[in-house]
Amino acid sequence: MSTPEPIGDFTHTTLGQQVRFATGTSATAVAEAVAALSASRVMLIAGESEAAMADQVAADLPVVLRHREVVMHVPIEVAERARAAAVEAGADVLVSVGGGSTTGLAKAVALTSGLPIVAVPTTYAGSEATDVWGLTEAARKTTGSHPDVLPRVVVYDASFTVGLPESMTVASGLNAMAHCVDSLWAPRADPINAALAAEAARALHQGMPLVVAEPSGLPGREQMLYGAYLAAVSFASAGSGLHHKIAHVLGGTYNLPHAQTHATVLPYVLALNAPAAPAAERRLAAAFGSATALEGLNALRAAVGAPTALRDVGFRAEDVPAAAAAVLAAAPPGNPVPLDQRTLERLLHAAWEGTAL
Ligand code: NAD
Repeated sequence: MSTPEPIGDFTHTTLGQQVRFATGTSATAVAEAVAALSASRVMLIAGESEAAMADQVAADLPVVLRHREVVMHVPIEVAERARAAAVEAGADVLVSVGGGSTTGLAKAVALTSGLPIVAVPTTYAGSEATDVWGLTEAARKTTGSHPDVLPRVVVYDASFTVGLPESMTVASGLNAMAHCVDSLWAPRADPINAALAAEAARALHQGMPLVVAEPSGLPGREQMLYGAYLAAVSFASAGSGLHHKIAHVLGGTYNLPHAQTHATVLPYVLALNAPAAPAAERRLAAAFGSATALEGLNALRAAVGAPTALRDVGFRAEDVPAAAAAVLAAAPPGNPVPLDQRTLERLLHAAWEGTAL
């Protein structure tokens, strides 16, 4: 009989929210959620490319305001306009239909108004499962956590992700994969979030190739949403590991696209950390059904045509030293491998070039 991994002493916080999987029936599920909150004045937030899905959800709702100005990383002036509009309309609930940017705007409004959010995510970014908000002011991204920004209800409708372009499906799916992989060595990693992370990795690994092979097929899309949710719950509980600190620096300082940056950097962080994180390595290899975690991730990336180099998304080689210094300053304690400027420069340069670490 093999020796079990030690459980150890730990404190785990589970965030409270209701989650509904409602493929093809999200309008009814959202209407029920709004009624259960005793709300009757809906501010519906959705960007232009999310409008058709928002129309479907709006059909059964008492909408007093339809807000369409959604911008990635939530610039403060965009948040201020949405906050003022919510007050002016007398909204008593926020319904967001869209990706992480749309959920992020709803969170910005909830942060100052305390209004409850019903979130209908249409990507795999996972913001809906966290109490983390983000705002950008003068090209600097600030994040924080507050209980009011955690959506009270999340409604997943796999049919809403069918229109997500393939490149975004892959990048966003790997963004979700980054949540569960990074949570295995994040500051508050524990056996509960590790169990969620392993199941998330399995579901994403199974779902992503199905979606790429058959974009209109719902079973793969449902697997991906299920995996994305578990991954985000795991991340919300475990906190940010090295991967997320790198993505935060690259997105915030160099304005690189969120999902594509995560998708590109993940194999580099895994290659660095996995040899020094045997429990994470075992869990991921088992979830992927592969000899090693990195082999499994790379095979998946090849099968779905993942982005490979940061230079393709606007990062410049000359920015590597400053980015490495910024990551080092923000690096979480307890990373499996000790971090220094040289190691991070090597990682970022390889990711810039798209070559193995
Ligand atoms: P996004 O929300 O910006 O969406 C990318 C593009 O896809 C947008 O143009 C959007 O309109 C479009 N789109 C979304 N869903 C679609 C669909 N189903 N069909 C067609 N088009 C669709 O990108 P994202 O990667 O989902 O979110 C990124 C943002 O979320 C970043 O600002 C990031 O910081 C934030 N985020 C926050 C957290 C958190 O916990 N606070 C977690 C993850 C991501």
